[in-house]
Amino acid sequence: MTFVDTKRLSLNFTNCPIQLFNTEKRVKETLVAEKGQITLYTCGPTVYNFAHIGNFRTYVFEDLLRRTLKFFGLKVKQVMNLTDVDDKTIKGAIAKGITLNAFTQPYKDAFFQDLATLHIEPAEVYPAATDYIQPMIEMIQTLIDKGFAYKGQDGSIYYAIRKFPRYGCLSHLKLDELKVGASERVAADEYDKENVSDFVLWKNYDPQRDGEIYWDSPFGPGRPGWHLECSAMAMQLLGDTIDIHVGGVDNMFPHHENEIAQSEACSGKTFVKHWMHAEHLIVDGKKMSKSMGNFYTLRDLLAKGFSGVEVRYMLLQTHYKTQLNFTFEGLDAVRHSLRRVQDFIRRVQEIKGSADSGSVAPVIERTLYAFAKALADDLNISVALAALFEMIREINTLCDKGLVGDSEAAEILEFLQKINQVLAIFTFEVQAEQIPQELQDALEQRNIARQNKNWSEADRLRDLIHSHGYIIEDSVKGARLKKIERSTK
Ligand code: AMP
Ligand code: ZN
Repeated sequence: MTFVDTKRLSLNFTNCPIQLFNTEKRVKETLVAEKGQITLYTCGPTVYNFAHIGNFRTYVFEDLLRRTLKFFGLKVKQVMNLTDVDDKTIKGAIAKGITLNAFTQPYKDAFFQDLATLHIEPAEVYPAATDYIQPMIEMIQTLIDKGFAYKGQDGSIYYAIRKFPRYGCLSHLKLDELKVGASERVAADEYDKENVSDFVLWKNYDPQRDGEIYWDSPFGPGRPGWHLECSAMAMQLLGDTIDIHVGGVDNMFPHHENEIAQSEACSGKTFVKHWMHAEHLIVDGKKMSKSMGNFYTLRDLLAKGFSGVEVRYMLLQTHYKTQLNFTFEGLDAVRHSLRRVQDFIRRVQEIKGSADSGSVAPVIERTLYAFAKALADDLNISVALAALFEMIREINTLCDKGLVGDSEAAEILEFLQKINQVLAIFTFEVQAEQIPQELQDALEQRNIARQNKNWSEADRLRDLIHSHGYIIEDSVKGARLKKIERSTK
């Protein structure tokens, strides 16, 4: 009998280095974790609406990163901010005639509900920007004192990008080749590379635009710029230098570029050791976004009958550096794959009274090794999942031959539980299916008809059951009903 050699298999951060692509350096780098700890900053939602599944692609990727780091034995301190003051939230609050807090709170609540539905592990801290206005004001003062910031004619405070030679390091912009300078300024939070310019740190209060929403500061009443919010919260909660900072690719410029400029000018230290960016979820070749109107919220998909786990798996299964094209056919395929895994789990759970054969341990060892190695290679989830499905195929074959014993079945389940710490897509509780009583009765009558060799009656009852969307599955515990999978198109 061969049991799984767990010692040999305890792959961890020390014996299995993690390689992650660093956007700034444009190469895969070995992650360095001092004292086995990683600080992780992840740009969070702007709470002016429900997050869409494009946003959740990035958050699910960040969850995979977090869970992988923990899988390899690292301690993670993750911060995800909630942007509850910016152009969009203020506009929304004014349009509804309510306070900023009253406007954003329901979207914050909905966001946390959605995270739970998608099995996204909570971050250690979710700071709201409105709770960090004072540190933001202090950062601006430091930037003014150090000569990196100035007051514009409109009364707002701007960051002078020419004063920061590293400006452009992340998105690889060459400032010399661009026409930028103090004469060009941008007050909006969002703009593109065509409009590289000094950006706003503190927006001067404008009663027409801001209603009653403003904070007092040494530079006059107003509110912080969006980019400053992340710099201030990240440094307050994680220190001057962060191990990993993550966001979607659209955050790279100008948001993350501006975060580097603000933070490094203030502290004089490297802001982030390792930058990572997730590619977009796209629809018909275009980025899913609220402004394009081509988006689905998680709630839209739940209303169409999909589960949180199905949406999670759909968002998880493609490598984060590849664009993911959203289709309903793709979601149907996910449903099918998950069914396969759940059927497999149920089959293994039902093994009882069988002797071990020694054939299972090598399969588990091989799979765990392939799974861990794939994740350590820049979170190569497609290879990791391929290893899982290969294992299911192999063990199903062993089950067919009666070669999986009781303790081997237990080891398979333990292994699946271990990898589920990363994937968070399996269910181990036996789900009581809500099968209508009349169909349960029909199954009972069919069993009796078969015992009495009344084949025509047995067939009639089988067809009746079938017409209600169930098939009869024979198992060691006797016949039972199973719902037929239907496409949701
Ligand atoms: P926002 O609320 O627009 O600030 O976006 C929150 C997060 O979602 C950011 O990290 C964005 O980069 C990310 N994001 C926005 N749209 C998409 C998309 N279509 N696919 C993947 N990530 C996205
Ligand atoms: Zn941010």
